[in-house]
Amino acid sequence: MVDRHLWNPDRESVQGDALRELQAGRLRQQLSYLRGRSGFYRERIDGAGVRPQDITSLEDIHPIPCFTKYQHREVQEASLSELGHPYGTHLCAPLDQVIGVQATSGTSGLPTFYTFSKHDYDVNDEVIARTLWRLGLRPGDGVMLGFALSMFVGGAPWIGGMQKMGLRVIPIGAEGGTGRLLQFAQLTKPRALLCTPSFAEYLAERAPELIGADVSSLGIEILMCGGEPGAGDPAVRARLEVAYGAEVYDGMGGAWGFFMVSCREHQGMHIVSPDLALVEAIDPETGAAVEAKDGTIAEMAFTSLDWEAGPILRYNMGDVAEFLTAPCSCGLPGSRYRILGRADDMLIVKGINVYPAAVRDVVAELAPRVTGAMRIVLDQEGPKVPSPLLLRIEHREGLEEAECAALSEQLEQRIRDLLRFRPTIELLPPGSLERSAHKTKLIVKRYAGEE
Ligand SMILES: [Zn+2]
Repeated sequence: MVDRHLWNPDRESVQGDALRELQAGRLRQQLSYLRGRSGFYRERIDGAGVRPQDITSLEDIHPIPCFTKYQHREVQEASLSELGHPYGTHLCAPLDQVIGVQATSGTSGLPTFYTFSKHDYDVNDEVIARTLWRLGLRPGDGVMLGFALSMFVGGAPWIGGMQKMGLRVIPIGAEGGTGRLLQFAQLTKPRALLCTPSFAEYLAERAPELIGADVSSLGIEILMCGGEPGAGDPAVRARLEVAYGAEVYDGMGGAWGFFMVSCREHQGMHIVSPDLALVEAIDPETGAAVEAKDGTIAEMAFTSLDWEAGPILRYNMGDVAEFLTAPCSCGLPGSRYRILGRADDMLIVKGINVYPAAVRDVVAELAPRVTGAMRIVLDQEGPKVPSPLLLRIEHREGLEEAECAALSEQLEQRIRDLLRFRPTIELLPPGSLERSAHKTKLIVKRYAGEE
């Protein structure tokens, strides 16, 4: 039997005009549903002068303002005081049909809640199966779930989805502890491990002491990281690949019908469910929708196309991505998104928007002549900073003086060509920049006393 590339080829392969038409049809249905079920959404939709039944194109929802994390907290506070539950006035399903609740811990005040109806679990299971199938997992494979099981959206809901796909789930969770996870991995030999990139690094660091062997001895072939950025960073990915001897993928999403995951080309993450969730490009300065062309850098706004409980409509979490719409050489369908950070990380150099992660990625392309470690040194607080921007970049071991000069020139040229700002390059010997254990730091605030 020929193995298929996709879990659900008919639905995952829809592209171009056919996809846009399908999305517009679903928007029509979804917005009618939102308007009929939630006073909050009715106000937003009517206030923008949008009539759901008249939607024929994706642009028709542009007049509706984006929904932000801050507003998400507000609608939760409103429902708590008015309706006696914390799930938000955007909840569309009757409370007795909400059978699942997940949450992220809020940095202040209420946690952010995610709600699921039975239908939503079916959608979520479909998205999980599409994601893991693309990574090469097949029914009968063992998968260790190392994400937090307690309330985390990538925790408990994934157990059901993976079982439905026919995978053997070992749900140890991040709560299981480092030693226990390593011990169970040694015993059960999972083909894949799902966890945050920082936990994956920590496991690799502790394994010799806790199980008397490197994590490479566990036989893990596939490591899918998510829950925080990290695996999209070429230096972190390279470290994890070497430590585990595994293919390392970066994933993002986990509710509302959307998930995106990287492929073997590692040029952004493919959306696996464009029929279930819409991703729009938003200008970070004006908040207006912009056309998502190949290479567009913008904030992402998400809209559920088939979600019942607490669906999202133009939800903007402030994550900035490079939108990659050209076909990927891996052959998988789905536009790709390369996360560059949050809108608040952005620097402005002579009117040009500079995302630290984008600088890091341009530098990393010159490996192996560079180690991938780099810092942007700031002498004053951003976002507006003076030109030229000082970059400290590590070169590899054993580079001659002349090679260093050529490398420096090439780095400067590439950054000017690709990112449109002028840097000052300071090349440093390998190992000069401190490696923080679980997080890559790209900026040195010299103005605040950092060195
Ligand atoms: Zn690809």
